[in-house]
Amino acid sequence: MSEEKRNFVDEFESPDHYHLDDLLTEEHKLIRSSVRDFVKKEITPFIEGWAEKNHFPNEIVKKFGEIGAFGPTIPLEYGGGGLDYISYGLIMQEIERGDSGMRSTASVQGSLVMYPIYAYGSEEQKKKYLPKLGSGEWLGCFGLTEPNHGSNPGGMETHYEDKGDHYLLNGAKMWISNAPQADIAVVWAKNEEGRIHGLIVERGMDGFTTPETHGKWSLRASCTGELVFSDVKVPKENLLPEKSGLGAPMGCLDKARFGIAWGAIGAAMDCYDSARRYALERIQFDKPIASFQLVQKKLAEMLTEITKAQLLNWKLGKMMDEGKATTAQISMAKRNGVEVALNIAREARQIHGGMGITGEYSMMRHMMNLESVVTYEGTHDIHLLILGADITGIPAFK
Ligand SMILES: Cc1cc2nc3c(=O)[nH]c(=O)nc-3n(C[C@H](O)[C@H](O)[C@H](O)COP(=O)(O)OP(=O)(O)OC[C@H]3O[C@@H](n4cnc5c(N)ncnc54)[C@H](O)[C@@H]3O)c2cc1C
Repeated sequence: MSEEKRNFVDEFESPDHYHLDDLLTEEHKLIRSSVRDFVKKEITPFIEGWAEKNHFPNEIVKKFGEIGAFGPTIPLEYGGGGLDYISYGLIMQEIERGDSGMRSTASVQGSLVMYPIYAYGSEEQKKKYLPKLGSGEWLGCFGLTEPNHGSNPGGMETHYEDKGDHYLLNGAKMWISNAPQADIAVVWAKNEEGRIHGLIVERGMDGFTTPETHGKWSLRASCTGELVFSDVKVPKENLLPEKSGLGAPMGCLDKARFGIAWGAIGAAMDCYDSARRYALERIQFDKPIASFQLVQKKLAEMLTEITKAQLLNWKLGKMMDEGKATTAQISMAKRNGVEVALNIAREARQIHGGMGITGEYSMMRHMMNLESVVTYEGTHDIHLLILGADITGIPAFK
């Protein structure tokens, strides 16, 4: 399916009002402009059609592999990009400027599938899986959430038993991005002692199915599904040996949430750009609506929030590179980025008046997508509680 929107020209521009480019290297700017060009060619002309038809464009996986969107911070020798975290953030920002579902595909593959194999896997696992995932030959997914355990993944019921020459896996995961199309799944399950471990489950293993989740009004160009394990025999060499406990999946989520913080601001940048352009063109009361103070207030506040979030994200990227970023700092940026983006999508939608509710413009799609982004990888309130616990030393989860 490649239904291009008629006469669609992606005119996105990103004026740098605060000279934030001074914080970037020439390599960062080159990466950003090449991903921006890719998004203008391969995503924005088609995305409204894909979202409308609830279609995941399989072919994008290989293309993401070609531009280095999978695992940008993983070393080159393992099929990653060997880049820093600012580069990773910029790639996520540009892809989500196109669509949050497309960014979800890329960040799940890089941060939630490649990263745990890289950080917790054996040398054999790294060699077997990472180059194929990095190139987009294989697509992966990350199974943590279960029907009865979302915000509280530590309560998971999925479990495995040691059967001597293999593990026997039973249970179910739900809301899993990429699941229906994935070649492999990194699955978090408890052993007989109740300790959480990661297992690599491959499509085709007996008893393993990935039913698709239908009826989503959000992330419609991303495929979501369940992972169902019914006496799946998992070879022992598929257990990730180097880390166990809830901290293992949480370590992956830190990386992915960093990407979300940047990505959500990409969606906000798209909404702001569209609103500014529309406000200058749309005439009411014989004047462009951009001449009215109330519209200018909206635009000024959008730009201010985007700029503040970009600074927060940049600083977080630096701390990630130095290995100093804490989970609570990442929570702050994820939570802030998504909230800023949701507010801007709503305000931008208003500036477009009635036209804002159509697929002629991107805001409604961004707004609906962001309703998933504000919930997944830790809900808005859970991130607030992570910050609250960090500030006070008192966890308020229970
Ligand atoms: C489109 C999409 C894609 C996803 N992709 C993946 C994926 O690839 N892999 C994966 O493992 N998961 C994935 N998820 C799951 C996602 O991470 C969970 O939906 C999320 O963690 C919330 O869990 P829940 O939906 O069960 O909500 P619940 O945990 O039931 O929360 C419901 C509400 O209760 C609130 N709440 C819960 N506990 C507390 C508390 N202690 N204090 C205050 N409020 C609380 C929450 O903030 C929320 O508002 C995806 C979800 C969506 C929607």
